[in-house]
Amino acid sequence: KPKTIIALAGNPNSGKTTLFNAITGARQHVGNYPGITVERKEGTINLKNTHVKLIDLPGTYSLSAYSQEELVARNFLIDEKPDIVVDIVDATMLERHLYLAIQFFELGIPVVLALNMMDDAKKQGLRINRKKLSELLNCPVVETVARNGQGKKELIDVAIKQAQLKNKIWAPLDISYGTDIDLALDEMEEIIQAEDFMTVRYPARWIALKYLENDQEIITLGGQFTDISKRLTEIVEQTKEHCLKTLNIPPEAIIADYRYGLINSILKQNIIIQEKPQQERI
Ligand code: GDP
Ligand code: MG
Repeated sequence: KPKTIIALAGNPNSGKTTLFNAITGARQHVGNYPGITVERKEGTINLKNTHVKLIDLPGTYSLSAYSQEELVARNFLIDEKPDIVVDIVDATMLERHLYLAIQFFELGIPVVLALNMMDDAKKQGLRINRKKLSELLNCPVVETVARNGQGKKELIDVAIKQAQLKNKIWAPLDISYGTDIDLALDEMEEIIQAEDFMTVRYPARWIALKYLENDQEIITLGGQFTDISKRLTEIVEQTKEHCLKTLNIPPEAIIADYRYGLINSILKQNIIIQEKPQQERI
């Protein structure tokens, strides 16, 4: 039977573990990632057509190297290449939670979005046009209530279908971060692309983006005092200086602004419909 590896990712407290437990029940195993204290939770489900391995990734706000959890999640995705990532978002905090989704798209990871906490959203009178959201994000969107297991079957079905359908080659989404950053990325991408040793694990343009975001783990990729690291550092320094002079913010802040800009341009298209909140029953 073919195997499908599904990783559950999302911000802390979005309901990953609750959903993981609802799906796997007792068939789970808890360990640690080698050398660190971050928990590694795996579970299995046996379906008619496929054997599913489910991994509950640590909660993260981004895919930078700011924390051990973020690095674990990122390295897992890159090294173990799950067939599909289920990104669990809190439907009542869509704008903030989509920030991570955008970063999955930037890396090219195939994603299914789970709008979790739909019970809370409904209580608040929030309705989400998930068909339109799905079209605009170009990924399937499923509503769930992890607490009572609602939507979990549809979610797994959609994830498996998407995993089988997606090409194994990741297709990173090319976002514009404004002219200055885009030009720097173009230049850096070309340099990186020529170095096979750098693109073994990551897409070239994504490496360039991480250089501009001052990602310490990625910056060591180019080696120390090498010609390539010198050229890349030079471009980063020039771009940073220019951004600080003209906009008074560093490149990583500009990049974050553009990500939120993209999220807002999507949400502005009547994705969230505010109705009258449900009456609390006394
Ligand atoms: P994680 O940090 O992403 O693993 O989140 P958890 O699974 O630990 O859930 C965080 C909190 O949200 C817990 O108190 C859960 O009971 C609660 N929770 C999870 N899913 C839902 C949901 O769909 N609806 C509601 N109302 N609460 C939920
Ligand atoms: Mg958890």
